[in-house]
Amino acid sequence: MRQFTGHHTLLSVCNECSTVVAGDTTSFDLWYDTPEKAAARIEIIQKSINFLSDLYGYAYNNGTTNCFSNAPCECCESHKAGERYEVLFIQLEIDEDSSEEESSEEESSEDDSEYESETVEL
Ligand SMILES: [Zn+2]
Repeated sequence: MRQFTGHHTLLSVCNECSTVVAGDTTSFDLWYDTPEKAAARIEIIQKSINFLSDLYGYAYNNGTTNCFSNAPCECCESHKAGERYEVLFIQLEIDEDSSEEESSEEESSEDDSEYESETVEL
């Protein structure tokens, strides 16, 4: 039986970071005056997420915390007050012992020709 052991890290992030984690950045065009400003902002956030992913693992959107906060975003460190969202970082540790399971394959190739030779048809 393979067990997944891993580290879970839950961070509270701003709306913008949550949007980038979700992968749909079209709303940035509404939030920023020009596509250039939006793209620059997305790039900063993406770099923060990449940095956190290196530390904590793959980022998933975990939904809203339903709480309004002026605490700094734990991803981009924005101090803009607003709703906070949860992003779950998951780091899976690959179980290296799983290769032992494959050793049983050699036994299955054992042929039963000895028994067949006993059957003599008359
Ligand atoms: Zn943020």
